[in-house]
Parts: sequence; C-alpha cells; structure tokens
Amino acid sequence: MRLKKFTYCSEFKCMAEKCPESCCQQWSIFFSKSDYLKLRNAQCSEELKKTIEKAIVKINADSEGFDYAVVRLDEKGVCPLLDGDGLCMLQKELGGDGLGYACRTFPRLKTKIGEDTYIYSLDMSCPKTAQLLIEHKEGLALSERNYDGGDGLLNAGVYSAPAVSAGWEGMPYYWVIKNTQIEILQNRRLTVCERMLVLGYFSRKANEYINHGEGGKIPVLAGRLKDIDISREIADSLKPDQSRKSYGVKSVSLFAKMLLRAQNRDEGHLRELFRTVADSLEITFKPEESKPLNIKSDKNIEASFNSAKYLEALEVYEKIEKERSYIIENILVNLIFPQALSEGIWKNYFIAAVFYNLLKTCVPAFLPKAFNDEELALAISRTAKMTVNNGLIKKDALLDFLDNRAYTLPHAAFLIYFSQS
Ligand code: SF4
Repeated sequence: MRLKKFTYCSEFKCMAEKCPESCCQQWSIFFSKSDYLKLRNAQCSEELKKTIEKAIVKINADSEGFDYAVVRLDEKGVCPLLDGDGLCMLQKELGGDGLGYACRTFPRLKTKIGEDTYIYSLDMSCPKTAQLLIEHKEGLALSERNYDGGDGLLNAGVYSAPAVSAGWEGMPYYWVIKNTQIEILQNRRLTVCERMLVLGYFSRKANEYINHGEGGKIPVLAGRLKDIDISREIADSLKPDQSRKSYGVKSVSLFAKMLLRAQNRDEGHLRELFRTVADSLEITFKPEESKPLNIKSDKNIEASFNSAKYLEALEVYEKIEKERSYIIENILVNLIFPQALSEGIWKNYFIAAVFYNLLKTCVPAFLPKAFNDEELALAISRTAKMTVNNGLIKKDALLDFLDNRAYTLPHAAFLIYFSQS
C-alpha cells in the first residue's frame, strides 16, 4: 500500500487550550451507531452515564455512517462532556476508545483510493489547519511513501473521507484526473478565477468522458491544458459578461438560500455563523422572518441586502486574493484533494465553485477591520465549518442548482467571475 499526503500534515499540532475555537464547541460532533452503542453500554460512573444519556442523541436511526447520533451542545454551544478543567469526560474515564470517531480523528481526513493507496489530508474547519494553509506560500506539496501499517482505523477499513472502490469505472484515470486538477489550481500563470474556470472545463469533460466510456481521452486533454495559451483561451471563453453588482446579487441569493436551510437545522452554532454573515450584509427577507422560513415549502421568499456592504466585503476579500493568492489556491487544493471522484467529478467541482463564491461572502464577515493571520485562519475555518463541512453545499445547495437547471459550466462561471469594471 502507498500513502499519499500533503507534506504540511506532518506540521499539524493541535492548539488544545490555545485554540480560538476548539472542536469541543460550536461544532456538530457525530457518533456512528457502533460508537454510540459502545458508549451507552460502557462501564463508567453514574455521573458520566447520566451526562452521556443527556448529551448524545440519536438523529438518524438508519445511518450506517458517522451521523447516527450527535452531541447536543449546551446553550453556549459547548460540548456538555467537556469538564470544568477543559478535559473531555469520556477521555478521562474511558480513554481514547471512549471517544467517537470524529473526536478521535478530527481534523485528519484519511481514506482509501482503489486497492493500493491511502490518502491523508486535514480538514480546514480546524483553525490550525487553516493557519498551515496560510503559512505555505510556496503552495501545497504532496508526498508519497509506503504505508507503514501503523494506523488501526485504516487497517480496520474505517475512513474519515469517502473511499473510492477499485471497481469505479474511472479508476484507471484517477490519478491523472486528480493530479491535473491540482496542477490547474496551482498554475500561477493564471489568476485564481481563471484557474477555477479551466478546472471547471476539465472536470466537466473528464466527467463526460468517464460516463461515455472514453476515459482514454482524459490524459490527452490533461496534456493539452499544460499549454498556457490553450488554458488561457479556455478561461477567456468562459468568462461571463457580469458586473460586480449582479455578481453580488447572485452571491447573496446563494448565501440566503443556505441560511434558510441552516435555520431548519438543529445546530444553534450553525445558525449563529450564518446570522453573523447575514447581519454584516444587512440581509432581510420577505415575508419577514417572524417565524423560521422554510425554503422547501415557500419558494417565494425574497432576500434583500445592502449592496454597499457587499461590495465593501468583496473588496476585503479581493485584497487577500490579489496580494496573497496562494492562500486561496491552498484552500482550494486542500478541498479538492480528498474529494472522492467516484461521487461525481462534476459534482466535486461544483461544490468547489460554490465554496469559492461563499468565501467572498463569508470570510470578510468574520474579520475585524485590521486583521492578522490567526484571525484570517479563524475566518476561513468558520466559513468551511458552516458550508462544506456539514453537508450544506453537498446535500442542499447543489439541489437548488439542479432544480433551477443551473448545474452547468456557464452557471458555475457566474459563481466565479465578474468583470472588474
Ligand atoms: S479545532 Fe483543531 S486546533 Fe482546535 S482543538 Fe480542535 S483539532 Fe485542536
């Protein structure tokens, strides 16, 4: 077996009590069925038994995955299993085995690709991961070595990101596709927007080729895209004629739909993160939000916002992307690498395009006027937490694009590019 990972993973060290937003709070902490049952039957003190009963609730009785049960956070959004001394009660009484999978592994993302490769990366919802992405100005590098067999969870076939079966029809082209996607995102001769457009073009084509049994065309296309003139031509042909203002309208409408979906979820911290962004842009809804609006049953909800505030936020974001484009590059590379291509190359790309758009809306809302790198890392990790990490894009936002027949490359381009005038 081979192990392929970002080299920066070796630099990761949990900030523990120094973490600005520890993963024991403001977080959806899930438990699989087996972890849940193990805990409910654990030999432990009466006090811990009672706390477990109250704190961990079943949410999805049919789940075979990690979302069978979830921790019900207290009113401040903190895990009730966190003791006064800042230590986890489960860890103290039951040791590492008492922890659910998420607590044991976060922010590590490990999975298996085909029969012979494990991959390893870190989830940027963790502020320390986001800091590492900010620190690597030279771009993210991957390393590959023989797997040493020392990871009990991997050996048991337990993964934290979706695995890709060896039988997936695109398997022979897996690494050509993945490496090309990363190369496109790291092509610094293009702007980040242009790279995203070229990535869309490549992902769309690769998806079609696999679906039509024409995978052999993928390496040829990947080779063509190494020519900067061809890549630039593709990017130019995809740039929509869109002003900043109409970009803002589309972006806020996307965000507002996600906010309404988040309102229907049980996680208070998630609603709070959305509320912070909404307040920063002065988003209001019609009909007014006297009760939680339901996006599924009421298609006539209209969101309005302060466009001057949006443009201000956009400027903050643009300054980051212009002056330190490697940060956005690293964020996107970090997102793309662990995505399972078998779930849909196009779907993976569309998630990245939506996330790229949301970065512009959300990151500035979490930043003070003058900010340092730690504050920027926290803003990035919060944006990841509220969008990609809890499935709001994957499960919900993509449905809106499908419903509106907007799940296409030209529509993705509208999420990415606007003219500077
Ligand atoms: S969020 Fe990251 S740095 Fe913070 S406590 Fe959790 S793992 Fe550690």
